[in-house]
Amino acid sequence: MILVLGGTAEARELAALLVEAGVPVVSSLAGRVARPRLPVGEVRIGGFGGVDGLARFLREAGERAEDGAGGGEAGPGESGPETAVRAVIDATHPFAAGISTNATAACAAARVPLLRLERPGWAAAPGAGRWHWVDDHDAAATTAARLGERPFLTVGRQSLDRFTGPLAEHHALVRVVDPPEVALPEPWRLLLSRGPYSVDAERELFGEYDVDVLVTKDSGGAHTWSKMAVADELGVPIVVVRRPGPAPGVQVVDNAAAAVEWVSASAANS
Ligand code: NAP
Repeated sequence: MILVLGGTAEARELAALLVEAGVPVVSSLAGRVARPRLPVGEVRIGGFGGVDGLARFLREAGERAEDGAGGGEAGPGESGPETAVRAVIDATHPFAAGISTNATAACAAARVPLLRLERPGWAAAPGAGRWHWVDDHDAAATTAARLGERPFLTVGRQSLDRFTGPLAEHHALVRVVDPPEVALPEPWRLLLSRGPYSVDAERELFGEYDVDVLVTKDSGGAHTWSKMAVADELGVPIVVVRRPGPAPGVQVVDNAAAAVEWVSASAANS
């Protein structure tokens, strides 16, 4: 069994490829969004309970497999695959740093091989040299406050509290999948929607809200690229939060097919 830590398009693509190749897979989702896009194959939802919880999940899957699979009642938080987890592929979002850090420590503790699947970022994209690259959301907020009056925030629901102070007087447009937990300043406008978005739709949105600065994370990939193309086309400055980057020592691939090759190669070597 391969455990795929998911919540991304790449993780869904990987699960589909593994299922197609006949490799048993369980995909894990955090359970943050109300209506997640589910991968094919087995799925579990919810946190593991930190490094110890994930390490326990990995060990207990192995023990259940050794016990002959399926025997005994699973207690709270103990549900999991009935087959040993042969490897973990961390295909979570580039900015989901907490689970990636946990996976590194838990896999080391449970002696389970770990691969990181991380889509390429936008640092090499056309126009990237003109963008305002910052290290964190606080710097993104102060930079956006300086650059415009009508920022378009596409940084995700969980980071919004870092922007409410510096941009309290700005006419910000916020786009998120699920409603934010923080109260938004009075002049802000909230848009609940989920991509992908076409270039035409993004152009219309920029015009409708008179956007004069775009704020984004370096999520990478094509799924949310249209807003970048439109901002560049309109000469709207872009503030980009740099990625936290993978943990040192963890092997990284940048596409689902390469992750499947890694699974095949590790099966051949074991
Ligand atoms: P995070 O801060 O790295 O993780 C916080 C906690 O959520 C983890 O410690 C873990 O809880 C749980 N968790 C996260 N991903 C999990 C997974 N795939 N399976 C089981 N538990 C998981 O994560 P986040 O930034 O909140 O992101 C949550 C999920 O949304 C991730 O799966 C990620 O791929 C997806 N996502 C994130 C972003 C983003 O911008 N951050 C964007 C798109 C999708 P325990 O400690 O209890 O195990």
